[in-house]
Amino acid sequence: MTVPRRTLDSLVTQVASELMAVDATTMASASERVLSWLVEHFDVDFSFLRFTDQKQRASILIAEWPPRPVAVDPDPLRVAYFDQTNSVFAQFEHATEPMVLRDSGEFPDYQQFILESTGYSQVSAAAVPLVSRDVSTGLLGFIKVGDRDWSTREVNVLKAIAALFAQLQARVEAEERLRYIAMHDDLTGLANRRALLEHMEDRLRPGSPGPVAAFFLDLDRLKALNDFLGHTAGDNFIRTLATRLRENLDPGDVIARLGGDEFVIVPAKPMDAAAAEREASRIQQLVARRVTVGEETVSRGASVGVALGIPGETTVADVLRRADHALLSAKSSGGNGVAVFTDAMRAQFELQDDVELNLRGAVADGSLVLHYQPEVDLRTGRVVALEALVRWQHPTRGLLPPGAFVGVAEATNLAGELGRWVIRTAAEQFAQWRRRGLASNVVIRINVSPVQLVSLDFVETIEGILRRYGIDGSSVCLEITEHVVVQDLARTQVTLRGLKRMGVQIAIDDFGTGYSSLSHLKALPVDAVKIDRGFVQRLGASADDLAIVKSIVGLAGSFGLGVVGEGVETTVAARTLVALGCYRAQGFLIARPMPGVEVEEHLAAGRIALDLDLPGTSRSVLPGAS
Ligand code: C2E
Ligand code: CA
Ligand code: CA
Repeated sequence: MTVPRRTLDSLVTQVASELMAVDATTMASASERVLSWLVEHFDVDFSFLRFTDQKQRASILIAEWPPRPVAVDPDPLRVAYFDQTNSVFAQFEHATEPMVLRDSGEFPDYQQFILESTGYSQVSAAAVPLVSRDVSTGLLGFIKVGDRDWSTREVNVLKAIAALFAQLQARVEAEERLRYIAMHDDLTGLANRRALLEHMEDRLRPGSPGPVAAFFLDLDRLKALNDFLGHTAGDNFIRTLATRLRENLDPGDVIARLGGDEFVIVPAKPMDAAAAEREASRIQQLVARRVTVGEETVSRGASVGVALGIPGETTVADVLRRADHALLSAKSSGGNGVAVFTDAMRAQFELQDDVELNLRGAVADGSLVLHYQPEVDLRTGRVVALEALVRWQHPTRGLLPPGAFVGVAEATNLAGELGRWVIRTAAEQFAQWRRRGLASNVVIRINVSPVQLVSLDFVETIEGILRRYGIDGSSVCLEITEHVVVQDLARTQVTLRGLKRMGVQIAIDDFGTGYSSLSHLKALPVDAVKIDRGFVQRLGASADDLAIVKSIVGLAGSFGLGVVGEGVETTVAARTLVALGCYRAQGFLIARPMPGVEVEEHLAAGRIALDLDLPGTSRSVLPGAS
């Protein structure tokens, strides 16, 4: 390869443009190319570039020309520590000015090679330090067999080139540092989310060895530690755990901290489910061991979720989601344990995915249906209300209950759309019944999800629908869960007052399962509570539940609230409710939720016959009573 002889100035320009676009990965080859030009241009026999690692106090070989045959591995010239007494580079550790060494034997190692390969007995050298902010950061060296003089002009050119290399060095180091920061967690120095994703992407590429295991690890109750011992203690705890993990796992295993107390570990070795579970248990025990933080010795249980990915088949997102899902299952079964992602979890997952994917379409294409469950006065059997309960006629999974998709709708921003569909459809059906003389003294009950309730235009939406179908507000009762009431009392208050202005009734659903006491509800314009079916179902079997129902009925009475018992499955439960003074009820004993056409029969009859054998009556349903 012949390089045209350049003038000294154009040489510097050429080197500058060569090094301009270089990064960490191309640095060695570009430097080698430049060295080859320098060797050619200055007519020397050998040249090298070394960077100083100030932390390790060592000189690191970056490039050399011509390439030296390396006899021993590792090449003893690759990393030369300055405090090793025989290091020839030590004398340049702090050098900032070029040195020309004529026939002085300053580079015995290189000299040896050159002497051997050329047969000459004399060398001379030029050593040009790389200088950055007055600190020596490396060395550019030239060796010539025999004697060579260097003109001031040549030395100045070498200085200029050394400066270019120093710039390159600083830039690459800064880039590396940025890359390190971008890929590592500040607190622990472990990999961060981004690094984890890149690594997993790599491991799951088609053809890579698998299965690839992922462990999702989460500490139980870390928050309490932060609260009681302070955040510094919490941080130290995390750091100690990070070190412990690093020390006890294979160096190739990737340990990432995703923030908080969440870690993901991807073992370097491919493993099957059984091996993964064993390894996860080992890690779980490792983490659950006590840690000394300052004065205190603390231990936190840890839960681990395990999932496997097959390269070329499973995506990174899938593996992480599965591991996360398994983690949830580990936590919900008490914590401090390991759970492997199972087929049952997969089925649950697929259902969720499916729902997410198809629900929006279902809202639009008519595959949602409303069923109606009558509510009666137990004393008379008169139908006093209908509760609209949504179902999804799914193309492959059959008729899905709301439990299978309402939660997903709420988690995926579809709650508003679904809710509007329910309210509109119920209102339309209800208006149609009314026009036909059915349901005149009946209230339509509609379930409202918490997300809907806090949406800004909820009141307007209801108002619009009622106006459109000509329904007076007092014929409508919205059911909200106790949960939402407690969560956002202020917001709920505003919305409920707006609804009240239209005369719309409000009932608290599933009452007794949440944390609110009736006194909470005093602040809200609520008309009725529905006693959760869990309590009602066991009336007659559980003394506790009897006591709870009794107190709810009593309290509701003293607050002037209506009360409805739901989940009435037995005559015992129905009789008990009546005895306690709760007359309105709903449940399978009375009627199941049913399609609109079927419920019309009950509406037409106006009552549902019940055989409760209530005291003081020969028949449960008094003829003519209403
Ligand atoms: P919920 O509001 O408590 O509705 C009553 C649920 O209890 C219904 O279940 C009903 O089928 C069931 N049920 C009624 N009587 C009995 C009984 O005697 N025994 C037993 N074991 N169960 C009985 P469903 O239809 O599966 O609805 C479940 C939940 O889904 C509802 O509970 C409600 O919270 C929610 N949901 C239903 N429709 C909608 C809707 O349109 N929008 C919203 N946001 N949620 C809805
Ligand atoms: Ca309800
Ligand atoms: Ca309920």
